[in-house]
Amino acid sequence: MPMFVDTSPPGECIFCRLAARQIPAALVCEDELTLAFMDIGQVTPGHVLVATRRHAATLADVTPEEAAAVMQTARRVALAVQTAFDPAGLTLLQANGAVGGQTVGHFHMHVVPRHEGDGIALSWPRKEPGAQVLQDYAARLRAAL
Ligand code: AMP
Ligand code: ZN
Repeated sequence: MPMFVDTSPPGECIFCRLAARQIPAALVCEDELTLAFMDIGQVTPGHVLVATRRHAATLADVTPEEAAAVMQTARRVALAVQTAFDPAGLTLLQANGAVGGQTVGHFHMHVVPRHEGDGIALSWPRKEPGAQVLQDYAARLRAAL
């Protein structure tokens, strides 16, 4: 997970300031709902962030249209990354909340070119709790939809 922490005061979100051109950015593309720019941390060369133009903290705060627009821009950027940087793989990452790994509280998705031995690691502790537990979890979610 990225180690950068946004120390901007409330109401002065770093990506809102970036979208308003109050701080510099290496812009890749923008449209009515989204903007894509180079992540200052460049985990691997070509690492891009796709953010909503409007301030929204997490996935729960974006509109369905914004959510769709971010994914469409991410796909567009991913194809360009493939052409321009020729990575062996590509990872999309979208974090929500500090515990989820989010350090800038303005909705965004990482587009990360991947290479063998690039040092990126996400621990994934599998549990395999069994079919009945899976059915119970699915039922809880169906009831919450
Ligand atoms: P996350 O931890 O998913 O919230 O990701 C936040 C990302 O924002 C980190 O990867 C930072 O490197 C990146 N970041 C922070 N400030 C800037 C900035 N001014 N321009 C570009 N990227 C930034
Ligand atoms: Zn913002």
